[in-house]
Amino acid sequence: MSIKLIFVINCGSSSLKFSVINPLTKERLLFGISEYFNNKNSYIKWIINHNEQKIEFNSITNHQIILNYLVKKILMKYPNIYNKIIGIGHRIVHGGENFTDSVIINSKSIEGIKQASIFAPLHNPVQLIGIKEISKIIPHLKNKQVAVFDTSFHQTLSETAYLYALPIHFYEKYKIRRYGAHGTSHKYVSKTAAKILNISLNEFNCISCHLGNGSSITAIYNGKSIDTSMGLTPLEGLVMGTRCGNIDPAIIFYMKNELNIKINKIYKILTEKSGVLGLTHLTSDFRYLENYYSKNKKIKRAIKIFIHNLSKYIASYTILLKEKINAIIFTGGIGENSILIREKTIKKLKIFGIFLDKELNNYMKLGKSGFINKKNSSIPILVIPTNEELIIAQDTFRIINI
Ligand code: AMP
Repeated sequence: MSIKLIFVINCGSSSLKFSVINPLTKERLLFGISEYFNNKNSYIKWIINHNEQKIEFNSITNHQIILNYLVKKILMKYPNIYNKIIGIGHRIVHGGENFTDSVIINSKSIEGIKQASIFAPLHNPVQLIGIKEISKIIPHLKNKQVAVFDTSFHQTLSETAYLYALPIHFYEKYKIRRYGAHGTSHKYVSKTAAKILNISLNEFNCISCHLGNGSSITAIYNGKSIDTSMGLTPLEGLVMGTRCGNIDPAIIFYMKNELNIKINKIYKILTEKSGVLGLTHLTSDFRYLENYYSKNKKIKRAIKIFIHNLSKYIASYTILLKEKINAIIFTGGIGENSILIREKTIKKLKIFGIFLDKELNNYMKLGKSGFINKKNSSIPILVIPTNEELIIAQDTFRIINI
């Protein structure tokens, strides 16, 4: 059987991650990242056959320049990979209510992505640029592109979970509601956990904690998302690296009316200057925070606030899962690696009979996957490295083969 590969493109606001994956064997043949567009530190690095290569541009770049470079100067140099690509999968941050699953990219789906841009103004427009540009660079795959949405996994939320208690016309007319995010990650880790525990996915209940620069938590019942902490945008919910998560909305009016801070600046404060960065005035990097936890009071306080919030969410989601919780899952850069955050969070859940095995917890980092609970824990606790790219590759393969 000839090998078929999928090219996965993830356009961020000023970065681009990419990979070429075999969706059947799950092998990642080439992957990399380009960062710092719009300034002179821009670079691209990629790994192939365990060798890392890096090019620094020393000039301003953008998504178009990088995609052209990536295909013409990198991918095409490896014809044994390039010639086997049969489809392109794009990560799209927001699908609004238009998309409950991944879709083939055509004029109708592009229109839907455009409509949802209002809820993800930093992401959807650049992801549309990615689609348009790659269609020009690899024209023979123009009609073999698939959009995979961060939001579609959460389209199973009931209106009880997705409606805000605002005047209802804000939903009916303007579609203001909870959409959630990180859906691809929650979907991947819940599928993987169900497999590990040998439970059929449509009977699998879990609480999935994706803790990274952005963090969200999802309650999954019978394999489907039933509640999630991110809202209309990824600002709501848990305390994050630089995002505030839940706050009293009246704080915004106080900042504007009493402190005379302009509304755009307030948005910047809430999204880029808050979270553990804002609380410490030091960093949003949990590696650093963890190292200085017992030495620096501000860091200790910030981590305690992070854990206070996270454990409250886990506790509240347990009641949504009714009969049985099959697993609590930790993923994302922090969830996969932070021994301290996992230990302190699980300690708070003693009331549920959930217990951590310290030795297993200490071992579980840097890409390792497995259980971290004691044998007598009422609920298994798993660490599962997320793999959003694989879901994008598999969805792309599934959809272009329909
Ligand atoms: P992500 O957005 O999923 O890439 O996660 C990024 C976050 O994971 C950052 O806050 C990192 O500091 C954190 N992280 C990565 N590696 C570690 C580690 N070994 N220990 C603690 N936190 C980590």
